[in-house]
Amino acid sequence: MLEEIRGLLILQDRDRRVLSLEKNLAQLPQDEARAKAKLAGDEAALKKAHDEFVAAELKVKKVEMDVQTRKTTIQRLENQQFETKKNEEYNALGHEITRYSKEVDELETKELEAMEEVDVFRKKQSEAEAVLAKTQKIVDEDLVSIKQRHAQMEAQLAEVKAEREKLVANVDEDLLPLYGKLMKSKDAMAIATLKNGQCTGCHVKVIASTAIAVQGEQEVTQCDNCGRILSMDE
Ligand SMILES: [Zn+2]
Repeated sequence: MLEEIRGLLILQDRDRRVLSLEKNLAQLPQDEARAKAKLAGDEAALKKAHDEFVAAELKVKKVEMDVQTRKTTIQRLENQQFETKKNEEYNALGHEITRYSKEVDELETKELEAMEEVDVFRKKQSEAEAVLAKTQKIVDEDLVSIKQRHAQMEAQLAEVKAEREKLVANVDEDLLPLYGKLMKSKDAMAIATLKNGQCTGCHVKVIASTAIAVQGEQEVTQCDNCGRILSMDE
């Protein structure tokens, strides 16, 4: 293989690694966002469970207040009943007291039911908390490994770039502009191989004189179809 081409092939390998690392690094913020998105569903479920729990507690408090109001009223009516001298008024007050007492009974039954609901929603809330905590743990682990991957790739990238700088110094200066142009325009493959008379870059059979020039290994030869630098299949 031509020395110039050997040098370029190694350079191409490092350049492709740089591109691949940069591509993977650019992917990391999306991976991070995807990991965090896993939490959204569980957070929403917890919020719903919490809202239901709070609403149930409020319901209990409201019923308690209703009971208290009626008990106060009953107390007042009983005082009035105690003070009255009129039989008719005494009986009327008695009816009122019975009516309010019945309401208190009904409300106290309601209060018990509401308290049971509070228990149900408290349980649902702690279940939702547990689910979220479990997901949070997984997400935290994901985020840690993404961070580690980031650091590893940054280190590799720096290493490969440093290596590339050394390699580029040994490559024929005249070839570098062509190499750079082909790397950009030919999908990061500036050098292709001649295999069974075909260029492995564009898969087109090269003309006879091109094939002969490549096989002769005397000068750098480009594919007559795609322009890539051709190396012998070894
Ligand atoms: Zn080609």
